[in-house]
Order: sequence, then C-alpha cells, then structure tokens
Amino acid sequence: MSNRRPLVAGNWKLNGSRAENSTLISALRTGLPTQLRADVVVCPPYVYLAEISAAIHDSVIQLGAQNIAAEDAGAFTGEVAASMLRDVGCEYVIVGHSERRALYGETDVLVAAKVATALRCGLTPILCVGETLAERDAATTLDVVRRQLGAVLDVVGIEAFAAGLVAYEPVWAIGTGRTATPIQAQEVHAEIRATLARRNATIAAAVRILYGGSVKASNAKDLFAMADIDGGLIGGASLEAAGFLGICKAAAESY
Ligand code: PEP
Repeated sequence: MSNRRPLVAGNWKLNGSRAENSTLISALRTGLPTQLRADVVVCPPYVYLAEISAAIHDSVIQLGAQNIAAEDAGAFTGEVAASMLRDVGCEYVIVGHSERRALYGETDVLVAAKVATALRCGLTPILCVGETLAERDAATTLDVVRRQLGAVLDVVGIEAFAAGLVAYEPVWAIGTGRTATPIQAQEVHAEIRATLARRNATIAAAVRILYGGSVKASNAKDLFAMADIDGGLIGGASLEAAGFLGICKAAAESY
C-alpha cells in the first residue's frame, strides 16, 4: 500500500480492428466505475488513435500510443511525431518496449531521445526496461535495468521522472504466460526506485513503476500488493474486456 495512485495501461500491440475496438471500448466504459481508484490507459495502434480518442470521451479511460518518433517533423517516412499524438488526444506513450528494442533495433540512446521528445511535447512517457532470459540467467538483471535507466537519466535528468513512468518488463515474461513472481518483480522495482533515489529521493518516492509480463486478472492482485509495484503494463490480457477489467479492479483495490 503506497500513496502512489496505481495505473494500468493496455498495450494492444499489432491487434484490433474498428469493429473489435468498438466492442472492447464499450465493454470497458460499461465496466469501469467512474470513481475508480486507478488510472486506466489504452494504447491502440496509431491508425485507431483518433477514433478511440472520440470513443473514450467523458470516460475514465485515457489514451496512449505505443511508440513515437524521436524527431519533431520532416523527412522521416513512416514515423509519427509526438505533436501528432497530442493532436489526436494522446496523453501517454510507451517508449523502449522490448519488442522495439529487439525487433527494430532501438538502442538506449534512441530510447532516451524519444523520452526527451515525449516530455518536451507534453506526453507522459512509459519507459520500458527489462532483461532477457540470458541476462537473468547470467545474474545481470539489475545491471541491465540500471544501464537502461541510466541512459535515459543522463539525457533527461532525474527531474523529468517527476512527469514520467517506468515499466519493468522482463523480456522472458512478455507474451509467454511465464510471469515474474511478485518477489522477483519487487526486487527489480526496488532497485529501479533506489537508482532514481540516488539522484533525487523525493522524485523516486513518487514515480510510478509498472510491472509488465503476462499479467492476468488471476495474478494481478499479488503483484500489485508489492511495495514498489504501482500497476501494470498489460499486453495480451488488455485485448479482452473481462480480463482487463479484473486487472483494473485489482489495481484499484491495492490503493
Ligand atoms: C507487453 O507487451 O507490454 C506485455 C506485458 O505483454 P503481455 O502482457 O502479453 O506479456
């Protein structure tokens, strides 16, 4: 139990259609109480953002994107700028997801530049960090997340974290059905907070750190009960209303 309001963000990844989105958003609107003691964010693919922005109007649901360009404008074919995301109603953006790092070659340096761009344009970045299975097996988990975090801290400074979130997502737990145990996750969350606290203890105490990796309604309560876990970044389970609502309820009850 902490004084940090939990947040649950659904990362829809490369899924959805206008019809499926409409059904999902309707069910979330119906199922989420207006006084929910947690923030709820959905992150659909770019092409659906404007339509979903309208569909969540006057609800507790907020909008996020899954990625942004580091650049503001210009000759960058296929990219989407932070200002455009703001323009269609986004408040959040996922940055440095492990799939972007592994499949699209995003480096710590690029991730840091994207976080800086998001903040400059008034978007709340959800900075993803996390180790691969090989890194965990080599007992380098804490070194990896410290490095990923340090790369961003060196560019944007600790003050920027007053306006951002961190998501700890062990790569081996994403989409695999293999969740980190609450104790495994808490150990890394505590280290993330300690790394931030070495720069500014007040900001570190307030930053929300989400856990991501095969969170389901059935395991959310135990994860969110941990001292430094302030909600979740949810992939697969965010595509199905009942499961996502169950996770949001668990988050609200942990507060
Ligand atoms: C994610 O991709 O951010 C994620 C946590 O996925 P899943 O919940 O499906 O493991």
